[in-house]
Amino acid sequence: MVRSMQPRIVPRNEHGISRKQISPNALRTLYRLRDNGFTAYLVGGCVRDLLMGRTPKDFDIATNAVPGQIKRLFRNCRLIGRRFRLAHLHFQDEVLEVSTFRALVPPEEAEGGETELDGRHSRHVKDEDGMVLRDNVFGTPEEDALRRDFTINALAYNIADFSVIDYCNGLSDLEQRLIRPIGDPAVRFTEDPVRMIRAVRFAGSHGLTIEPATWEVLCSLAPTITRAAPARLYEEMLKLFLLGAARPVFGLLASSGLSAALFPGLHRWLAAGGADRLMALESNLECLDRLCRSALTPAPALFLAALFGPGLEEEALARHREGVPHQQAMDAACSRFLEELAGTVTVPGRISGQLRRILALQSSLHRMPPRRPAALAARPDFADAVAYLLVTAKTHQENREALAWWQAYIQSPAGTGTEVPAEKVPGKKRQRRRRRSRPADQTAAPEDGAALEP
Ligand code: ATP
Ligand code: MG
Repeated sequence: MVRSMQPRIVPRNEHGISRKQISPNALRTLYRLRDNGFTAYLVGGCVRDLLMGRTPKDFDIATNAVPGQIKRLFRNCRLIGRRFRLAHLHFQDEVLEVSTFRALVPPEEAEGGETELDGRHSRHVKDEDGMVLRDNVFGTPEEDALRRDFTINALAYNIADFSVIDYCNGLSDLEQRLIRPIGDPAVRFTEDPVRMIRAVRFAGSHGLTIEPATWEVLCSLAPTITRAAPARLYEEMLKLFLLGAARPVFGLLASSGLSAALFPGLHRWLAAGGADRLMALESNLECLDRLCRSALTPAPALFLAALFGPGLEEEALARHREGVPHQQAMDAACSRFLEELAGTVTVPGRISGQLRRILALQSSLHRMPPRRPAALAARPDFADAVAYLLVTAKTHQENREALAWWQAYIQSPAGTGTEVPAEKVPGKKRQRRRRRSRPADQTAAPEDGAALEP
């Protein structure tokens, strides 16, 4: 159970958060709540990031106004969530999440079941292993802070006096650059195994260290990550790998044992090979990170290809050597791999289709000179298939040569579609034109920029 303590209130002149760093929409929302007599805080990751001098991804607000009251105050409000009602405020280019302070899981409910508290519905439900299945009871600001995952994620910025409120030593952990769960790490990781992945993500992306005792617990509980819902794990995977820190994050996933649990096929492939396999993977992820930093968010299928492609290509090659035609061999390797992965991580069908096509296109991209390049360039996922050449270029000489050829082609007049005879291009004319515009937009990556050099 998380023990509460006197919160530390840090006045405006003793912390570095300025209102200029806060999104104007968030600021106006906080003011309106305050002016209507409600408590209103910025909470969660945005306070952490502002204190670290980073630009927050999003601004979350917590208040004592209940969802109905929030809805009456804001015309752009939509209430969402069945498990816990919260408000989304829709602005032109931003959606703000405004949630009512939430309560902790009371100990008497820790074994499961539903109760009524003060006439409010309490729906804290845990499964027999202690994983929280549902919780939606309103609480105090302190309870709201203490139910969060890590001390550095539980800080609040109070619009009433511009102070920072620290309920559980988050500021001190932030100063020491430590990730520490609120309360007992084993309990908190058991309640929600995804918190282990979040710890690794923040460590990798924010240059923080997982507090040593927490790290030990995390490593011992890593195999339990498979208890989290596979669809949620897919969403978490995207956050892990598509935010510019895939390489450090993968290192932590591997050393904690999380990657072995999440991606058993990849783990077997790495364990069975030499150091060059790991190096190839790390090189791919580094390139993915460079793409992210150049403001081009890689497609999810490209990241899957960067992570799983080398193993799949090896397996396909082995099948091919046994006489299976190349495309069929790749298809079989992908099917087997994705089937096993579905036990832990659900990759949506549309994305796994793209992954298959990116890998299937590789043999055609490698053929030098390529046959009917315009037809290839009109294929769906051509842009990402060329980006895969870029991602793998450092460790594959063959891919470097193919990449150079295709980069030149994309920039040539033929690459813009002007000299391509229509009859040589399969599919409808309209469709061809639409697709052919993709390389120019989306393979800006392979064409462009020193940051993107393999
Ligand atoms: P990011 O920069 O990736 O958005 P974040 O910390 O803001 O990081 P969010 O997923 O946006 O992460 O969550 C917002 C806040 O909600 C977190 O800072 C944390 O306080 C709380 N939170 C999110 N996920 C959990 C969880 N699994 N358990 C407990 N608290 C959580
Ligand atoms: Mg956030």
